[in-house]
Amino acid sequence: MKRALQPLGFTQGVAPAALLGPEEIARRLGARGLIRLGSNESPFGPGPKALAAIQREAALSHRYGDPACFALREAVAGHHGVPIDCVAVGAGIDDLLGWVVRAFLSQGMSAIASRGAFPTFEMHVNGFGASLTAVPYRSDGRTDLDGFVHVAKRCGGGLIFLPNPDNPSGSSWDWGDVEAFLDALPDDVFLIHDEAYANFLSAEHRFPLDTLDERMVRMRTFSKEYGLAGLRVGYALGTPKVIGALDAIRLLYGVNRLAQAAALASLSDSVFMEDVVARIAMARDEYHALARRLGLATFPSETNFVLFDFGDAERARSALESLLRRGIHVRKPAAPPLDGCIRVSVGTPAERERFAEELEAIVADDKMAEGAARRTALP
Ligand SMILES: *Cc1c(COP(=O)(O)O)cnc(C)c1O
Repeated sequence: MKRALQPLGFTQGVAPAALLGPEEIARRLGARGLIRLGSNESPFGPGPKALAAIQREAALSHRYGDPACFALREAVAGHHGVPIDCVAVGAGIDDLLGWVVRAFLSQGMSAIASRGAFPTFEMHVNGFGASLTAVPYRSDGRTDLDGFVHVAKRCGGGLIFLPNPDNPSGSSWDWGDVEAFLDALPDDVFLIHDEAYANFLSAEHRFPLDTLDERMVRMRTFSKEYGLAGLRVGYALGTPKVIGALDAIRLLYGVNRLAQAAALASLSDSVFMEDVVARIAMARDEYHALARRLGLATFPSETNFVLFDFGDAERARSALESLLRRGIHVRKPAAPPLDGCIRVSVGTPAERERFAEELEAIVADDKMAEGAARRTALP
């Protein structure tokens, strides 16, 4: 028998347990289902226009979607006020990140991201045979732009991944900070500016829609405020040269027809989108108030989730596990200084009420255990 070619086995880097979905966790727990506050999905569903478009297109599922995604690209270009050749559409930002890695990262080149950041970028980098240089978050929990510049200079360039607003920290930098950051970076750097949460920024902090730069690609998604996570669709904005390089390596039928139609309809429904954003901002305030009431700190957030600070990683892990046993799925940042927190996505009002009750019970248990430990430690 001939010897089989072996897979490269990129199993390191991203902790697999952190990537288990709520379905798999429920199966392992023997639970029927979990309240999903772990994946930053919208609890409010797709908009009515998107839903109607999906229903219309469903009967055409035997036909491929438009490989050029022309109607959606045209609408995105109109929305941003840029030419259509500055827009690429992919199956979510997850997909688009892979295109950029393949188009820009040569082997041995460095890829730079925050330690414990949104994991997909690192998975693409590992799968491409390169490795990630991780920059820790600052002690205030924000992405360390100066640290990125320092590492990029040391590495002689590279591909930089910057979610802004950031996941999991929830923090953001203004557009002026991003421009100053680009100017501070050395030559031979390319920036991925991941704007998955950009519409959650308050009006005065929202990014200019039409600004493009040869040194970066901007990415947006329909997975969050538009409520289309399950359809997988997002887009990249860049100069025609950058977009041309991505277009050359994309799959022909990578974006399905339901996703294209639903995204197109969503883009024309800014009333629905802004309403979701406002409801999520209110729910975030509710989370901050809940934490204050329970004596927990939170981090400021310009996203659809809030970090509840338990002070250390052990306690945060135990809170996460207690919540799971009580039927609620949340996640936890993987690396210091944020690993003492749990990350809780905004849920429906009913889900938030359940979460508040369970969290209150867990914090009370924790205080009792702490009191008992202190009493037994007395001489
Ligand atoms: C949720 C999220 C995305 C969205 O990815 P899709 O593949 O478009 O669903 C991208 N980047 C970050 C940082 C996110 O948190």
